[in-house]
Amino acid sequence: MDNIIKDTKIIKVDRCNPQKEKIREAARYLIQGEVVAFPTETVYGLGANALDPKAVKKIFAAKGRPADNPLIVHISEPEAIKYLAGRFPDSTWPLIKQFWPGPLTIILPKKEIVPMEVTAGLDTVALRMPAHPVALELIREAGFPVAAPSANLSGRPSPTAAEHVIRDLAGKIPVILDGGQTEVGLESTVIDLTGRVPVILRPGGVTYEELKSILGEVDIDPGLLPEKYVPRAPGMKYTHYSPRAAVILVGGSIEKIRQVVQAIAKREIARGKRVGIMATEQTLHCYSAGEIISVGDRDNPSTIASNLFAVIREFDDRGVDVIVAEGIDEKGIGLAVMNRLKKASGFNIVDADAYLESGER
Ligand code: AMP
Ligand code: MG
Repeated sequence: MDNIIKDTKIIKVDRCNPQKEKIREAARYLIQGEVVAFPTETVYGLGANALDPKAVKKIFAAKGRPADNPLIVHISEPEAIKYLAGRFPDSTWPLIKQFWPGPLTIILPKKEIVPMEVTAGLDTVALRMPAHPVALELIREAGFPVAAPSANLSGRPSPTAAEHVIRDLAGKIPVILDGGQTEVGLESTVIDLTGRVPVILRPGGVTYEELKSILGEVDIDPGLLPEKYVPRAPGMKYTHYSPRAAVILVGGSIEKIRQVVQAIAKREIARGKRVGIMATEQTLHCYSAGEIISVGDRDNPSTIASNLFAVIREFDDRGVDVIVAEGIDEKGIGLAVMNRLKKASGFNIVDADAYLESGER
């Protein structure tokens, strides 16, 4: 049954067998110049007609998104890039062949048809073909490319379930397509193809290792390293994924992480704080302080990616003051997980070895 919450219509769709008439109903809002929240395989998006500046402005208004943070344009077939972008470096085609539909966003020089409102004044455009049957059908039904950032209030963690979108945007947008939980749980990888060597501007669902195996040569934006945190992807400079609670991220070897997470949790409790521990399956039973939630399995880090934002939101809903989070290996999807955790912590990162050596307790 469809449901209305604070004037926002919630249309439930079956991810595996999406009912066309329901998606058509949502597409009609897009065609009328409205915004629609919809599921993708990464996170929920808040979409509008990418070729209509007035519609696109409604996205920024609903999210409270700064106008200088450009949007990703979503398409339902690879050929659509020819209408939206000019000049395609050789790397474009193997990337599209390998990773589309999927969690990879490519940056190319834009064509005139893409309004400045979408690209925040840049002469490049971000393009992605999502791998979610509901998203693809929605774009097809609309008949135009759909500009869509994540469907959260600006600064909040990205939504990985319709309930998160409802929490942030009910009453602010006319309709939400509810396709259940997203799979990847983190946003797409953003790769800039406009230079000689492709550059990863944001780690995400497609890993550095996968990109390297196709491209041979690929750089990571040095701005992503904490010591020189001057990100080139315009949106990356904003405090994303920021929970209301303070986040302390603990890195190092797993044995030491366990000791230090427990020590910091106790220290913060002694200071009168309500503490949440973001543990993993492997360490869940090791802690005896604060509120403990497992974010996933260290041996299968895609489970951690998938649950990360929901766990951050859960701690916020419970009203904890401090989240103490375990770091994971920065391999594969771990690079993107750690990028989001570092940002959520505002780079408040504790090295477990150094902490134990310094004798601080
Ligand atoms: P979101 O969809 O909310 O995850 O945000 C889109 C991300 O893509 C932001 O981090 C933007 O900065 C990035 N992005 C979009 N367009 C461009 C562009 N033309 N050049 C570089 N980054 C972009
Ligand atoms: Mg976002």
